[in-house]
Amino acid sequence: MRLIDNLKFIVDNNVGKLAKWLRIMGYDSLFFNGGNDSRMVAIALGEERVILTRDTQIMKRRVVISGRLKAILIQSDEPERQMHQVIDSLHLDCQFKPFTICLECNQPLQEKSKQQVKDLVPPYVFQTQNQYMECPTCHRIYWRGTHWQRMSERLKRFRKGGP
Ligand SMILES: [Zn+2]
Repeated sequence: MRLIDNLKFIVDNNVGKLAKWLRIMGYDSLFFNGGNDSRMVAIALGEERVILTRDTQIMKRRVVISGRLKAILIQSDEPERQMHQVIDSLHLDCQFKPFTICLECNQPLQEKSKQQVKDLVPPYVFQTQNQYMECPTCHRIYWRGTHWQRMSERLKRFRKGGP
């Protein structure tokens, strides 16, 4: 059985919002915007990623039917319901590793000391926050401010099974 820690995703652009939520939870989630199904399947196989899609054609592929490649056909067009489906079917942990992956680049964030970000964050943030993370690719700085708290609340709702 696959360990939950190893779960990685490739998110089709028809369910693109899922990529952001899975990244918030700490799951490596590649956003696929290529339009070419075969390429998405090849990446998923090569990198052992679970495909999330609304495209029924993908589900008919031999690699998916045989179980060699895991794919989930997303039912709803509403992002919050889509998240419930993914969480339920894979028994995901919403508090897996929250806020460890860049929401833009899908790169693991690196911890930064307060002094390292002194000139990079707004002064009020610097005064009130002690923990910072930086994306090595886009250099965006993350901290646990109000935006983070709002997203945490939504994550808790996902865990409870919705509003
Ligand atoms: Zn980034």
